[in-house]
Amino acid sequence: MTEIIDYPLLALVGQEEMKTALVLAAINPRVRGVLLLGPRGTGKTTAARGLVDLLPPVPRSSCPHGCEPRLAAISMEYVCSDCAEKLKKKEEITYPAPMQLIELPLNASMDDVIGGPNPRIALEQSRWQLQQGILYYAHSNVLYADEINLLDENIVNCILDAASRGYYVVRRGRLIGTFPSEFLLIGSMNPEEGMLRPQLMDRLGLRVVVAPVHAPEQRLEIYERNRQFADDPVTFAAGYAEETIALANEIAQAKELLPEVTIPSGIAESAMRLINSQRIQSQRAEIVLLEAARARAAADARMEVEDVDIAVVAPLALRQRRSHFMERFVKQSVKEDHRIAGGVKKVLGIETK
Ligand SMILES: [Zn+2]
Repeated sequence: MTEIIDYPLLALVGQEEMKTALVLAAINPRVRGVLLLGPRGTGKTTAARGLVDLLPPVPRSSCPHGCEPRLAAISMEYVCSDCAEKLKKKEEITYPAPMQLIELPLNASMDDVIGGPNPRIALEQSRWQLQQGILYYAHSNVLYADEINLLDENIVNCILDAASRGYYVVRRGRLIGTFPSEFLLIGSMNPEEGMLRPQLMDRLGLRVVVAPVHAPEQRLEIYERNRQFADDPVTFAAGYAEETIALANEIAQAKELLPEVTIPSGIAESAMRLINSQRIQSQRAEIVLLEAARARAAADARMEVEDVDIAVVAPLALRQRRSHFMERFVKQSVKEDHRIAGGVKKVLGIETK
């Protein structure tokens, strides 16, 4: 079997912000993923594919039926008799394997995403057996939703729910299964083809505007690197191997350090003032801003967040978050409350706040 060589993330010319966002989201799951906004051909998909080489290995099933301890934990019915036997003897049924990029197809149905009836079993044995879906395979991997703005909204909602809860539920007649589903979500979209609804967009953590590279020397460099990669991907990737391994180690260390990283109260307060100064209503803004700042401190091997972390992650966490609709809505609502309070005072003689 030939291995597919991905274009190394570090070989992307420019796009520093995209690289930073992907690394921060990989370090800290509470950042809630990344949304890449930009036209086609700016390396969004290449970057998502390249990211997996930087991430620590994850357990993968060594059984041809795909049995895993997380399934056995739900019910022994979900694993084959060989694996059940092995688990009883406390033997491993998984091995450490590189993380995978699971790509969500544009035409995915709900059954494709959460799982549905196994068509072969249904036909041959006329009984219902769950065939796992994309969320199952995305667990402990990276889920890439290209053109997320063109996907069915129910599907996007379902994926965002699973991403924020860390599990999803399959309900089919008598069968109810809760499956763990922790993954790094990367969405990409071309704003020219329509926006994602603000409510959905708000649930994705960092936002990167991926602009095409304009400088002639950079454009030429992109061409040169693409040509070298097409000619000989193995040698090309090998040229970035050392740097890639070094960054992968930094990410692994940062993940370990992250639980220890704290935010001094003065810095947290100025971060909140910053959000207010931008008139952002969404309460997710502070979570993303502070968690991304913690990830940056961890990446820098520091135990405390500094102002500079907030400054660097602010555009990633706050852009495209200000809602003019909510701003107007809240303003009108405050006005209305004043009017009601005035009425209450006038008619009932009671002063309210
Ligand atoms: Zn098995």
